[in-house]
Amino acid sequence: MDGQVPPEVERMRAELEQAAPARAVDDFLPPELRVPSHDQLDGRMMPWKQPLVLDGELVACAECGAYRDWLILSTRDQVWLRCRKGHQQHEIRLDTAWYNRHAGPADATHATFEDCLRHLGH
Ligand SMILES: [Zn+2]
Repeated sequence: MDGQVPPEVERMRAELEQAAPARAVDDFLPPELRVPSHDQLDGRMMPWKQPLVLDGELVACAECGAYRDWLILSTRDQVWLRCRKGHQQHEIRLDTAWYNRHAGPADATHATFEDCLRHLGH
């Protein structure tokens, strides 16, 4: 969660820690109660700037016709395409194995879907 807290909250937290340094550590949950980072986001996503061709067919957004600058989402063994305008469609020709072949290692972990979209510039 570090780095995703509004600056005011960070500042207040710092002031609290200065006021009561001995108690600051007690506020943390024990490790076994913390949510593992890889479970924070239910799925993964990657940007896909170039046109996507499947079975010789150019994939286009069913709503607006966009054919490039996708976000590709992999979740619960399904792959979804999200266009620049935020339309999402399930792409049944793709699966998690395809995603894993094309995705690089995750460069960041995000607490929420929206954080991740912002990170990727959407
Ligand atoms: Zn669209």
